[in-house]
Amino acid sequence: MLFNNKKCSNCASYYDPTLKKCPICNKSNELYDQRRIPDSVVFFHPAAQIGLFLAGFSFVGMLVSEIISTIIFKGLPDRGLADALEILFVYILMLSALLTISLSARASIFIEKFKRYKDYLFGLAYAGAIILTGVIINTIQGFIYQATNGNQEAAESLITNYPIIAIFLVCLLGPICEELTYRVGLYSFLRRINKILAIIVTTIVFALIHYDFSAKDYIAELWALPSYLTCGLILALAYEHRGPACSITAHVTYNIVALILVIIGKAYG
Ligand SMILES: [Zn+2]
Repeated sequence: MLFNNKKCSNCASYYDPTLKKCPICNKSNELYDQRRIPDSVVFFHPAAQIGLFLAGFSFVGMLVSEIISTIIFKGLPDRGLADALEILFVYILMLSALLTISLSARASIFIEKFKRYKDYLFGLAYAGAIILTGVIINTIQGFIYQATNGNQEAAESLITNYPIIAIFLVCLLGPICEELTYRVGLYSFLRRINKILAIIVTTIVFALIHYDFSAKDYIAELWALPSYLTCGLILALAYEHRGPACSITAHVTYNIVALILVIIGKAYG
């Protein structure tokens, strides 16, 4: 458990065990040398970690931003454009909240995790792993039953009608918000308890947020779960292994490839 404060071996003061140094005397934290804490994972104060999860998770962050954006874009005559702008605005608000929490929690620790160029290269490799497992799962599923889930459908109609907004949302805002919410927020919080617990819970939560509970075709939604579960699992492993720069790169790259495939599919389908 990384919730209880650690006693400094040098000055005997107590501090958050995820800090790399004693904030009083600067003696380095032995738990990092013993590899009991992963250097890649971003650890904020537990309250900030929960705050990140709540800011990005639909029930709180989404709801608040949706109410604000509905009021702002209410007057637009084009309903489709108003909806697209609303989603865009919701994500911009969410990202601002997530970045504000991250930078006001422990800015230097957060920024430090984005300075190792190798993490980005590993991110590309993890994206390859997500694409490969996705292709394998889809191929196997394709022999049994073909289906398009709600999340996919929503993304496809947005791309057709508002390509610029779609590119921003699908390739940048969406994946960055999700990584800050589910990896830097939820995963890092659970990681203080246990690594396996963190991997299992964030993988399941990640798959479920992509499940459209309002969809009539619930078989298509269930059918999409294996892909989202493996995607969530690989992103959790990417984060544990190389941190947020890696999981964000993997997620962004994967979404770009998926978007290109949808566009190609439209051109030839
Ligand atoms: Zn000390």
